[in-house]
Amino acid sequence: MKSQNELGVPVPANKPLVVRTIKQVTREQREYVLKKTEYSMFSFPADLIFVDFLSDSGSGTMTDFQWAALFHGDESYGRNKGYYVLLDAIRDTFERGDTPNRSINLILSGETDVNKLMDELYVTSFEGGFVNGGTHQLTRPNAFIVPQGRCAEHLLFSTIAPILKQKNKDIINYIPNNGHFDTTEANIVANGIQAVNLFSTNLMDDFPYDEMDKRNPFKGNMDLKGLEDLIKEKGVDSIPLIYVTITNNTAAGQPVSMKNIKEVHKIAKKYDIPFFFDACRFSENANFIKEFEEGYRNRSILSIVQEMFSYVDGFTISFKKDGLANIGGGFFFRDKGVFHKKFSIDEDIGIKLKEKQILTFGNDSYGGMSGRDIMALAAGLYEVVKEPYLYERKIQVREFARKLAQNGIPILLPAGGHAVYIDMDKFFEGTDMKIDDFGGVGFTIELLKHYGIRSVELGPFCFEWDKKTPEQQKGILNLVRLAMPRNVYSASHIDYAVAAITELYHNKEKIPKVKISRGAELRLRHFQTGLQPIYKN
Ligand SMILES: *Cc1c(COP(=O)(O)O)cnc(C)c1O
Repeated sequence: MKSQNELGVPVPANKPLVVRTIKQVTREQREYVLKKTEYSMFSFPADLIFVDFLSDSGSGTMTDFQWAALFHGDESYGRNKGYYVLLDAIRDTFERGDTPNRSINLILSGETDVNKLMDELYVTSFEGGFVNGGTHQLTRPNAFIVPQGRCAEHLLFSTIAPILKQKNKDIINYIPNNGHFDTTEANIVANGIQAVNLFSTNLMDDFPYDEMDKRNPFKGNMDLKGLEDLIKEKGVDSIPLIYVTITNNTAAGQPVSMKNIKEVHKIAKKYDIPFFFDACRFSENANFIKEFEEGYRNRSILSIVQEMFSYVDGFTISFKKDGLANIGGGFFFRDKGVFHKKFSIDEDIGIKLKEKQILTFGNDSYGGMSGRDIMALAAGLYEVVKEPYLYERKIQVREFARKLAQNGIPILLPAGGHAVYIDMDKFFEGTDMKIDDFGGVGFTIELLKHYGIRSVELGPFCFEWDKKTPEQQKGILNLVRLAMPRNVYSASHIDYAVAAITELYHNKEKIPKVKISRGAELRLRHFQTGLQPIYKN
């Protein structure tokens, strides 16, 4: 008889103990609301949706451990207890590998031994990693809590931009990434720096859906030749940072291999350039390395994460993703590392960052988050590295992709870590839909109208195809994303979505072209503009 792990389906990793009723909205009601909300996915009331695949950001179900931790939230203005717990959880997650401290347990168990609390939590001293402790965090700050990932990006880029000007006001600076997330790119550009995408060259290669359990081509990797070419072409002094996003959200949520991370590290070291992660889905990326990269099958997620982060000099992160928290973000850099050395010109860069953090988000010990959120986040960091959870989540996304592919829906394969992406160019093959008809948007409108399922176009509408040069247009993929919130949906939601999407696919000639009815010129327009579907009668 097969063992529990040989059955080909994951052993269940959790059970929901709170249930939210889905309202039984009719097609006519959704049609009415769509009209009233200008057919914008971002403006439709979530309470009237059956299955919401708009984003995996902040939309996960927290665990009982997180809810218990939340009750220990401390709303003190200065140095709430969760601050210490969170900083130690950061060290546990990214630095300590298989030997975490779990000092969160001191708080959750109601420890009252004051000497123990002082020694192990409140005045413990540490330096040389991503989180200085005790006095070192005061004299050389290197850990910054903020409400979201984009706040960390704003903090970083708005602080370094004037320093770059001061260093050399005549050069253009470029920050390469394996795939800039939209807010990362926007924050870089807003500070007068150029953002360069170096997607893996195999990204759009075909991949058979029945091999998803057998191998993975790590299509999220950075194009290494592109990186060296860029450094040589622009000059080392024009590249202030190298960024790698794990997993690569902009490139269909594809993972990055440890080998690629090591190679980027080698190049960064050769040219003495700081190497950072956009670390939003670090544990999901580690889980792909464990399954598919040689030598990692028997390693724990924590030890893989520890190795990944040993190659970087710092990271920005949105904890709304793998933190399993509803809110939170951060920026952390290695004490006395390359970044610290290069950007501490006439003052310590950490001091400058801390001043900006206080100006924009609040005192460094809460950074714009509530004490309750901080505790829930610290607890979440211990939840997201649990292997049964990660395994079940990965298989859920993969099964969603496999079922769609089996029904002939053209999706990007293999499945990424947090979402399934439909290739809309292939989807509309054989119809008269052209790229600037925004067929992907028409698809999202019909999927919501007929079946109460929300998705999002990440293609010519979102990336503003009509405003770009022909050269820039080549870099725009025509995708619709179905993102999977964590611990929210079951097989029944997925089966419903697969049936609905398949039905739309079989009726694709009825999907409307879409016109922008208001605000075509607005920035970040996919959040703002009004739309009008054009139905053939
Ligand atoms: C979500 C995300 C961000 C931005 O984080 P927010 O918390 O939404 O501000 C940055 N990078 C990547 C890869 C993301 O997925």
